[in-house]
Amino acid sequence: MQVEIDAHSGFCGGVIRAIGTAEKFLDSGAGRLYSLGAIVHNEEELARLESRGLVTLGKSDLDKPAGPVGGETLLIRAHGEPPRVYARLREAGVKVIDCTCPVVLALQKKIREAYSRVAPAGGQVVLFGKIGHPEVLGLVGQVEEGGVIVVENVDQLQACLADGSIRRDHDIELFSQTTKSPEGYAAVRKCLQGAMRGATLTVHDTICQQVASRHRELQEFARSHDVIVFVSGRESSNGRVLCELCRRVNPRTWHIGSVAGLQPGWFRKEDRVGVCGATSTPKWLLEEVAGAIKNLH
Ligand code: SF4
Repeated sequence: MQVEIDAHSGFCGGVIRAIGTAEKFLDSGAGRLYSLGAIVHNEEELARLESRGLVTLGKSDLDKPAGPVGGETLLIRAHGEPPRVYARLREAGVKVIDCTCPVVLALQKKIREAYSRVAPAGGQVVLFGKIGHPEVLGLVGQVEEGGVIVVENVDQLQACLADGSIRRDHDIELFSQTTKSPEGYAAVRKCLQGAMRGATLTVHDTICQQVASRHRELQEFARSHDVIVFVSGRESSNGRVLCELCRRVNPRTWHIGSVAGLQPGWFRKEDRVGVCGATSTPKWLLEEVAGAIKNLH
């Protein structure tokens, strides 16, 4: 059995930067480092960093005694946070290491600017994204509550058009979460374009370039192998999107979180197997999975 790892899989620039910064801090012996939410949506990599002293917090932990106190340090991950989180940390005297990805920071700024352009005349900002995803919460939190309408797909967009929560007769500025699929965004854009009534739709190209190019390369990779083993954490929305993309061109696509999920029955001796992952899947884990597959036959 031939096993090949996708050369383009592995962490994106934003995740590499956040993890590198955390490791540098932990190596320096400067004390405990908190991360607000999982620094990466991969249980294996998270366990590795937590074994080195990283403490992952949920938002509600900020108010608990176990949370960071004045003088302690907290890392903001690549997804970013809304301004009210920074304000709360400032108030508590917590030192912040801001690892918000520059691409996400630029998108936050664009959303603030778009809102101030359209809102005074009754226009709206619409975001194609996953409701409740941390990056989306950070984006939506840039403007006042209810100022950004989030739709996950064309069905939700149509429902918002039908109930009037998206007003087609007022200007709309459309954005995408950085990790959404280019095809999904194109479908949402087309549907909204067709629905506008005498108002202007401005579409912003805000899918991360690393994600967009990975979509193209991954389809090719999935097509050129007999079996695909896609490795990503359960919490990774980018992982779910990319795995589905592989499955569309190669029905023999299997999704696992770690070596423990592999099943020998998926493979035949003559298969060419491709191993790939999401922007949150570490290279070392892909190598571990590839090694375990080779040992199956
Ligand atoms: S996917 Fe792109 S935008 Fe999102 S964190 Fe990674 S590099 Fe930044």
